[in-house]
Amino acid sequence: MTVEIQSNDFIALADIALRNPDLQHAVAAGTRGGYQKRAETMFAHSREHGEHMRQQAAEAKRRALRNLPDLLETAERNLSANGWQVEWAEDAAEANRLVLDIARRHKVQTVAKSKSMLTEELGLNHALEAADLRVVETDLGEYIIQLNDETPSHIVAPVMHKTKAEIRDIFIRELGMEPTDDAEAMVAFARKMLRHDFLNADMGISGGNFLIAETGSVGLVMNEGNGRMCTSMPRVHIALVGIEKIVETVEDYATLTQVLPSSSTGQKLTVYTNILNGPRRADEDDGPQHSYVILVDNGRSQIYGTDYAEALTCIRCGACQNACPVYRSTGGHAYGWVYGGPIGAVLTPLFVGLENAQPLPHASSLCGSCKQVCPVDIDLPRMLLDLRWELVRDGHSKTGWDAAMKAWAIGMTSPRRFALGGATARAGQHIMGEYLPGILGNWTKHRDFPDFAPKPFRRLWKERNNDRA
Ligand code: SF4
Repeated sequence: MTVEIQSNDFIALADIALRNPDLQHAVAAGTRGGYQKRAETMFAHSREHGEHMRQQAAEAKRRALRNLPDLLETAERNLSANGWQVEWAEDAAEANRLVLDIARRHKVQTVAKSKSMLTEELGLNHALEAADLRVVETDLGEYIIQLNDETPSHIVAPVMHKTKAEIRDIFIRELGMEPTDDAEAMVAFARKMLRHDFLNADMGISGGNFLIAETGSVGLVMNEGNGRMCTSMPRVHIALVGIEKIVETVEDYATLTQVLPSSSTGQKLTVYTNILNGPRRADEDDGPQHSYVILVDNGRSQIYGTDYAEALTCIRCGACQNACPVYRSTGGHAYGWVYGGPIGAVLTPLFVGLENAQPLPHASSLCGSCKQVCPVDIDLPRMLLDLRWELVRDGHSKTGWDAAMKAWAIGMTSPRRFALGGATARAGQHIMGEYLPGILGNWTKHRDFPDFAPKPFRRLWKERNNDRA
């Protein structure tokens, strides 16, 4: 089952988000907190140390990407040696079918899931529910949005767009919680509800932050114990892992598990940093009896080998979302598919087709903050510009925009025309005030239009030279 794509409605969806004061408040607070904490942790020793960690992490991911085919073969061999049953899925339909086959084989009725953006991409929950399986999201944020029938709005904080009061109302409405505004009481209530599901789940599903080729292990980092419960309590565990999640060595994993939490939540390490090595051994008392890894392509190999391949090194930390002035204003749902923010503006067109996500490459001021905070130094602004170029090349740019750019080029290539344009703009602003007319009004709907200088720089320069003479 495919996930609905609404990315061509970005402008309309952003407009709705901008008019929602609760969302504005929640997203501003969430992104600001993440952004500040990242800087404090990443550069806690020194700026040089932080930058060195970033470059080391970037090199680990780029090396893995360069050797991707070989490393995938190594990983499959070592995973199998550890007792994992390895499956390959070319697309979402195949991945979902494999999960359903496994569920049927093991007579599964209830599934406990830990947070995974890949499963959002696959629309896995819908596929399982359509087959009459009960699926419970056990990450607190995912649990809340599942109760409210929504999708995540942030890579690491899926419920960032909700205020505490909204979450309280969801718990009261959906679960019959006694009214309270105490966050700790709400968390305790959710924990109690979820504990029952952990104990009764036949199958656990997780993603995988990393796949360690040399040891045949799945690396999972998280802050809630739910991931460990999903991967160890039910008798069957499936890890769905994108093929780009591979790293070569445990040392690479150690590097990446430092920069990932520093960049996302401002922690030195997540509370749980796991290396999963397959099913329980004969001499072990706990752990799943059956462990599966499904290695998912779903469009990744088509990006591999293109100028956008570097986007595959993303470790889904969400730092670029926290830093982006567009994301900070709109939240993630405006981007109309699974991934929001700068990485979403790049990945979405690559995964769903540029024609289905035309506004996204323009959903950026190109300020460069996303590249600056990215722990693996992905050049997102360059990719956004390349995608804009592709839009023009393929005839997807708007007629009005093309005409405006041509007019701009005519004005900028002649000093006389430039001066005339400036004088007209100053006179126009005098008449219209703070709001631009017609389609240009979209720009001033949510912003002030800065005043033009009363005298242009050229005239000031001339006057100054005249005075000196
Ligand atoms: S692009 Fe970089 S900053 Fe953004 S989510 Fe991926 S790793 Fe994090």
